[in-house]
Amino acid sequence: MRLANLEGRAVLVLSTGAADGTGARGVDLHAASGGRFGPAPETVFEHWDAVRAWYAAAADELVADLDVDPDRLGPPSPRPLQAMGLGFNYAEHARETGFEAPTELPPVFPKFASSLTGPRGVVDLPAGGNTDWEVEVVAVIGRTAHRITPEQAWDHVAGLCVGQDLSERRRQFAGPAPQFGLAKSYPGFSPTGPWLVSPDELADPDDLALGCAIDGEVVQDGRTSRLLFSVPRAVAELSRVLTLLPGDIVFTGTPDGVGVGREPQRFLRSGETLRTWVEGIGEMVHTLR
Ligand code: ZN
Repeated sequence: MRLANLEGRAVLVLSTGAADGTGARGVDLHAASGGRFGPAPETVFEHWDAVRAWYAAAADELVADLDVDPDRLGPPSPRPLQAMGLGFNYAEHARETGFEAPTELPPVFPKFASSLTGPRGVVDLPAGGNTDWEVEVVAVIGRTAHRITPEQAWDHVAGLCVGQDLSERRRQFAGPAPQFGLAKSYPGFSPTGPWLVSPDELADPDDLALGCAIDGEVVQDGRTSRLLFSVPRAVAELSRVLTLLPGDIVFTGTPDGVGVGREPQRFLRSGETLRTWVEGIGEMVHTLR
């Protein structure tokens, strides 16, 4: 199942169109379910099991009568009660930024909800800052999870989206202690999309290619099989402390190739276009200003 947020309404994407989402078609969840689910995407996750069961029975009869225009999409989970990210969850990325690869759960930081946006649009670069790119797979929680095991974790994940964990490095590393949460939560710094894909739709949800390119130049190119803490292991570890709630989102960490780890360092510039993709899910396109 693929769930999108089309101008504030939950939409099931039935055909994904071109690689950039152009030509995707779908159906309004509220209308198709006779008013049972939606229309607001944020209300869908608390009924995720019922939505899945309804979809399994109804899928063959749904008619894709909506144009799912990527320019009109918002974040698939637009109002998570909790949004967070994991730092240094790929060994090569920890190394390039001068940190030890974590053996315990990697550092966890908030992605403040006001920074959430969709898969297209313009992102303003903070004046005087060094804004960096971080392609990530984002997991959306579909079932309340507390003290679950890694084996139980995929059953608690509604699906995965493409994410960018945009990061202003000056703010992040200005003392006295790193400011991960603030530095990664400027407006527009947490885009997700283009839609959520449930794990059963992916050939292997634990091994997805992911990457991003600036003006066509590929700067990150990794695979989620290289995650130190896989999606199910990370969700299980987080649930040892937190109660994860339906709609919560977890940015699972970025592979190597970020700008701060380069020699010389490189950061995003006004006018550049950042394209971000995950295999089997789709892509996002943002312009920096
Ligand atoms: Zn990150």
